[in-house]
Amino acid sequence: MHEMGITQGILAASIEAAEKENAVSITEVRISVGDLTEIVETALQFAFETLREGTIAEGAELAVTHVSPRSRCTSCGEEFEHDKWDLTCPKCGSFFCDVLAGRELRIDSIDIDTDEGHEEIA
Ligand SMILES: [Zn+2]
Repeated sequence: MHEMGITQGILAASIEAAEKENAVSITEVRISVGDLTEIVETALQFAFETLREGTIAEGAELAVTHVSPRSRCTSCGEEFEHDKWDLTCPKCGSFFCDVLAGRELRIDSIDIDTDEGHEEIA
């Protein structure tokens, strides 16, 4: 289950960013996951719940935004959204397309609590 390793990275980066802001706890971590990645959200959530134990993110929620795959046709320049398997240009039928979105995995923002109150870091 490679979600464990991915989540470990997300969590480590979140904690590092939060500690820089003198956070006492992390309340929410928001990430974007492209639908072209092979990441299974339930596995991600499970890994997060396991790995957050004993860290400042112990009470944190993991909010996942799914990013639809989008490509640009190299023949006619059409940009279109598609599902995981159908990479055919809807305009000219070409199979030669550059993927613009859908492969991302990034942290969008993190909600933290500090001694001064609640903060959002991006
Ligand atoms: Zn096309």
